[in-house]
Amino acid sequence: MNEQLISVQNLTKQYQESQSSGISQVSFSIRRGDIVAIIGESGSGKSTLLKCMYGLVAPDSGEVHFAGKRVLGPHEQLIPGHTEMKMVTQDFSLNIYAKVYDNIAAMLSNTNVAIKLQRTLEVMEQLHIGHLKDKKISELSGGEQQRVAIAKALVSNIQVLLLDEPFSQVDSLLKNQLRADIRRLAKETGLTVVLVSHDPTDGLFLADQLLILKDGILLQNDHPTQVYEHPVNLYTAKILGNAVHLDAQDAQLLGVKTTKQQVVFYPEWVELKSSWNSRRFEVVEVYYKGFYDELLLERNGVQIRALQLNTGTHKKNDHIQANISRFLEF
Ligand code: ADP
Ligand code: MG
Repeated sequence: MNEQLISVQNLTKQYQESQSSGISQVSFSIRRGDIVAIIGESGSGKSTLLKCMYGLVAPDSGEVHFAGKRVLGPHEQLIPGHTEMKMVTQDFSLNIYAKVYDNIAAMLSNTNVAIKLQRTLEVMEQLHIGHLKDKKISELSGGEQQRVAIAKALVSNIQVLLLDEPFSQVDSLLKNQLRADIRRLAKETGLTVVLVSHDPTDGLFLADQLLILKDGILLQNDHPTQVYEHPVNLYTAKILGNAVHLDAQDAQLLGVKTTKQQVVFYPEWVELKSSWNSRRFEVVEVYYKGFYDELLLERNGVQIRALQLNTGTHKKNDHIQANISRFLEF
């Protein structure tokens, strides 16, 4: 078990007194070397939380500790921000007229020019941007700029990288590469990464720890598979995946026996079989998803979704057996 590196205790920051905006009583801790994903909708307080952790925003109450020491707020030191952390924001903060190399190298002092050159080239290799060395930032794609911004943050040997919506400017293929690179970097160098995103798949794919934030409140904090399999409430279940949500009445109509108000299950939990004696559904629509089909099924006027791994097995208007043997109740 890795040591605890960051501890966030009862952190509260409200921008307006009247209505809730910001974060409220947030507590959690982060182990050294872990990748932590914080997922929440726009306005849920993700950026506020990151800024408080970094020391750019002073909380109203509560504290952040880094390696046992309180992180100082913006008015408590000359240059706001913790020296062992760097934050990469969505605007990248790059000098767009300067070359890639110069943007990154500018973070290092000139006391040893040879080391400066070596370290800059090293971090460029780690981010796969060595070939862009002499290009201007204005000539790069969004995904390339994102890599330069991360390289610029990492060149000064920090311990924690804070990423605010790191994948929002990157298309899906590059997104996968960037996620894999961040994961590899963290595992190779021992870097601790905290990333916030509105896209739950960012967190599920690469995190060691997943936090769900809603309206400034931390709803759940656990390993991603644990959060996915055992969401503590309806909101978490719905934000994480493509969950099917039924009220108790509709659930009863499908033969799901619940004692609570709400039933939630993921499409992959629905068992499809043609040969057993259970609920008969009509296939209302088949959505081709590449290596699987997502089926929209209906019975007694209630619709659900299910996955079919062998694509093309079922067609629209087919009748099939679907068994909702596993579900969550809230
Ligand atoms: P997220 O990053 O999850 O989108 P933010 O932390 O940026 O959320 O914002 C959380 C809430 O606080 C939002 O309602 C936002 O409008 C409000 N907020 C953020 N920054 C400020 C600020 N500087 N002044 C006033 N309200 C703010
Ligand atoms: Mg934000």
